Amino acid sequence: MGIYERYEAERPKSRAAYERARRLLPDGVEHDMRVSRPFSIYVERAEGAYKWDVDGHRYVDFIVGHGALLLGQNHPAVIGPVREALELGTHFGASHEAIAEWADRVCRLIPSAEMVRFHSSGTEATMMAIRMCRALTGREQVLKFEAHFHGWHDYATVAVYEPFDTPTSAGVPGAVQDTVTAIPVNDAAQVRDTLAAREYACVILEPSGAGGGSAPTDVEWVRELRAICTEMDVPLIFDEVITGFRYSPGGYQQEFGITPDLTTLAKILAGGFPGGAVAGRREFVELIEMRDESGWNRGKRISHPGTFNANPLSATAGVACLDYIADGKAHAVANRMGDRLRAGMKKVIDVRGLKAEVFGSHSFVRLSFTGRRDRGAMGSLGAPLQTAMMLHGVHIGGGGGMTSAVMTEDDIDLTIDAFEQSLKLLGEEGLLVD
Ligand code: PMP
Repeated sequence: MGIYERYEAERPKSRAAYERARRLLPDGVEHDMRVSRPFSIYVERAEGAYKWDVDGHRYVDFIVGHGALLLGQNHPAVIGPVREALELGTHFGASHEAIAEWADRVCRLIPSAEMVRFHSSGTEATMMAIRMCRALTGREQVLKFEAHFHGWHDYATVAVYEPFDTPTSAGVPGAVQDTVTAIPVNDAAQVRDTLAAREYACVILEPSGAGGGSAPTDVEWVRELRAICTEMDVPLIFDEVITGFRYSPGGYQQEFGITPDLTTLAKILAGGFPGGAVAGRREFVELIEMRDESGWNRGKRISHPGTFNANPLSATAGVACLDYIADGKAHAVANRMGDRLRAGMKKVIDVRGLKAEVFGSHSFVRLSFTGRRDRGAMGSLGAPLQTAMMLHGVHIGGGGGMTSAVMTEDDIDLTIDAFEQSLKLLGEEGLLVD
């Protein structure tokens, strides 16, 4: 039986759930990355480092809530306070004390944070950060970097996948795309020339490099970028939606000592609940309160409603999570698990003599079977490898995943073994070129 046949045979309930969902929902899932072949698993419950599908299979979880779960699933330090908050109400349609507590944790941990505004996702955070820069500078053009991901709003669809001159998504007006310029990373002269050629409202990047550092940037280049932006008076946004609170308690910027004007945050920020934030220099964030005598001020003020902004459950989870991870101990465990997994996978690759590579830093573990480190890194092997790993009790993306602080060495060793067995299956199907 082939990989896909065995997966189908062992997952009748997921198959039924998928077929039902697909009648009403495109792809039968709610995120581009949740599409797997021949169909996605449907999860019933999760705990710690594991999740269980509706057919009763257990998986070690390397998706970790798309990066939101540094502390794994249902961590008691987060879920305990959330249970108590749940009893008090889920939405007050009014302010509550946890918002200032949450902002206080963000400002204590993130070096660039002087003032904070919360949203419900990372997409909203990057959209807002760009708007703040446009509002403050009165300029429109945005400079981003090829392959860097900033969510799914219109401006973020520019230059994510190759070919970079074709937007990632249909349905985005050309006039919107034209307000975003994308260039490659690691070339300071090109940044300087581009910024000199016309007026820019901001520069935005994933400071670690695209995909949480899959295609790493050179730290010295990021440092120079900071200096160029200061010199040329262009605001710099670090999109730390995935690296924030994951690279270190204070994200990439704390680890490397480079401070942007604005930082976008989400994922770990809200401890596994929906949440996002822009944190940074006061003069940008306070544009939201820039009222005039009319009480509104269309010329200067940034408008920002949002039904679920800083809802009590997300705020409570966020405070609890940020308190728990502030000492860096969770990062040390997750990073150690990352080191162990990278080393183990490398050994498997070397023993088989494959032209493949395992890379990544901190809690990011990435694979490449093409010599490339971008989104094409897995070629056509991503889908069958992901399915084969699920056959062996591991849920990880086709091109890798992230570790969490609740994984044990046994979980990692099981995963290395699953990788070995999966490559064997891919080999038997003639998919591997040695
Ligand atoms: N920016 C980066 C760097 C991200 O990794 C992501 C999510 N993967 C986003 C923005 C978008 O965040 P969200 O999915 O919460 O909208």
